[in-house]
Amino acid sequence: RVASFRPMIPRGRYAPSPTGTTHLGNASTALLAWLSVRAASGPYVVRLEDLDRPRVVAGSAEGILRDLDWLGLDWDEGPDRGGPYAPYVQSERGGPYAAAFETLRAAGLIYPCFCSRRDIQSAASAPQSPGDEALYPGTCRDLPPDEVAARVASGRAHAWRFRVEPAAVAPFTDRIHGRYEAPPGSIGDFVVRRADRVPAYQLAVVVDDIAMKIDEVVRGEDLLASTVRQLLLYRALGATPPAFAHVPILLGADGVRLSKRHQGATLRELREAGESAASIVGHLAHQHGLRPKPEPIRARQLVAGFDLGI
Ligand code: GLU
Repeated sequence: RVASFRPMIPRGRYAPSPTGTTHLGNASTALLAWLSVRAASGPYVVRLEDLDRPRVVAGSAEGILRDLDWLGLDWDEGPDRGGPYAPYVQSERGGPYAAAFETLRAAGLIYPCFCSRRDIQSAASAPQSPGDEALYPGTCRDLPPDEVAARVASGRAHAWRFRVEPAAVAPFTDRIHGRYEAPPGSIGDFVVRRADRVPAYQLAVVVDDIAMKIDEVVRGEDLLASTVRQLLLYRALGATPPAFAHVPILLGADGVRLSKRHQGATLRELREAGESAASIVGHLAHQHGLRPKPEPIRARQLVAGFDLGI
């Protein structure tokens, strides 16, 4: 039996949702993901996560690619340039999601859920990030098969949930956080297909990272708990998970996680205010402790010797 090994040349990715304009928090994640893979001479893949149609903003995808280019973060595969695992836009990737869904269904690992959002959601656990969801109380987990069949036959809308066995919820080792363990009981049965038949984030991201042969996932630490769910899907689909590195989320001056709500924190605003890409990269590098001072620097000057683990 051959020991598992990490590839010498990893494939990394940046997976933005085209729901607005790039802000410093997005740029920070994109930069660290790029540095990590470039330091190992690996390819950088850009994938647009646009399944949540009502949140998609026209022109956002083009703007995100322009911003990456402006920052000096080049990519080898992506929506505009294709590549061996095209398409790189989730809304065009229905086939792989349907195949994974069938695998999970055939294995009895998912079940239909007829609950409405209002049935489930308690104000205290309103989702904060794409991977978060209110803890599911298990209402539809053990419905008798004939009851399920009757409801489906009557046309009742239903999502599909992954059946989480508490014993299967395992800690994992993150390259930045070290060992991460979800609080006991915090990972409920999660949605893999929404009632409108759209694949949920958890399933789509795992199916795509498998299909695109991604070896390292560098993303915001708001997705740490989601990773625990995603690892269950990797196992269920018989795939080896990538290495994970969850990077700190930048905070605004108000101490709140940076988002498009913050005035003056989008790349467009900063550019219009006369900031150069090098000054933004220098600011981000300083924030992450890569440079002692926030001096202008080009992204490619940060590549040599870059290591996420420090
Ligand atoms: N599309 C997700 C977001 O923009 C990121 C997903 C991921 O990196 O796994 O928040």
